[in-house]
Amino acid sequence: MGDAQIIDGKAFAAELLKRIGAEVAGLKYQPGLAVVLVGDDPASQVYVRSKIKQTIAVGMRSVEHKLPVGTTQGELMALVAGLNADESVQGILVQLPLPGHLDSGAVLDLIDPGKDVDGLHVVNAGRLAAGLPALVSCTPLGCLLLLKDVLGDLTGLEAVVIGRSHMVGKPVAQLLLRENCTVTMAHSKTRNLAQVCRRADILVAAVGRAQMVRGDWIKPGAAVIDVGINRVAGEGGKTRLVGDVAFEEARRVAGWITPVPGGVGPMTIACLLRNTLEAAKGRI
Ligand code: NDP
Repeated sequence: MGDAQIIDGKAFAAELLKRIGAEVAGLKYQPGLAVVLVGDDPASQVYVRSKIKQTIAVGMRSVEHKLPVGTTQGELMALVAGLNADESVQGILVQLPLPGHLDSGAVLDLIDPGKDVDGLHVVNAGRLAAGLPALVSCTPLGCLLLLKDVLGDLTGLEAVVIGRSHMVGKPVAQLLLRENCTVTMAHSKTRNLAQVCRRADILVAAVGRAQMVRGDWIKPGAAVIDVGINRVAGEGGKTRLVGDVAFEEARRVAGWITPVPGGVGPMTIACLLRNTLEAAKGRI
């Protein structure tokens, strides 16, 4: 087997953002995306900055609410209720994780499902599971768009998803099932994980364990989507990002593979804006 084709998520996301921007320009109104950030977690601040920048770049209106770490549950709930009622806001995103004293489940459940552009509301998760139109969690949607781009029709393919979180693993599996794949969901209690993975035409790793998936876990020619983002020690005392897949080994066996960084990561924000556009058009 030769080297796998690298799936360029960065280029795909840039193209998607361009298409979203063109559609936004044709609307009679400007969709608004509200981003709520509580506290001063540095990683969250970086994500939120990037989301705001790209929201503005596609021509949408960015509504920012940066709240102090001491914000109470009541204050946060009141803000979300206000955004639900605000007709100039089509999408609401509450950046996670929230500080420990806040109940994120209660906050997410308060978001109007039609404005839940992160796709985390139980109504959207339920609609996806029931095969109904839904706002789908952004990273899983990004995985699916990349897979469909390289493989086309996914019908009948064996898919193995490692990870069963509400945010990534479960919705990825639901989306692949909707595309008529034969889906196996693996997790920390799965026996013979390597063997399970070896039957996958599509292997999605969403675990959070650096380079856990080895080259000999992969079926020759498979499409490998690496969702993991893990910071490990690099050269010269610096750190670097790696995925859940041992990339150099895997690329010799796989047919297609996403790199980390530059694979699934850039798709997440592009899909957030895609969801905001869908919400603005009232498609769900
Ligand atoms: P969670 O920690 O919520 O879930 C991890 C899943 O992996 C769980 O279902 C867990 O199983 C499973 N797991 C843990 N250890 C093993 C193991 N040894 N073998 C098999 N399965 C295992 O993580 P998330 O789903 O939120 O995120 C997963 C990864 O994706 C992280 O690295 C995260 O940083 C990254 N991520 C990337 C995004 C992007 O934009 N690219 C966005 C979101 C996440 P169990 O349920 O049994 O505990």
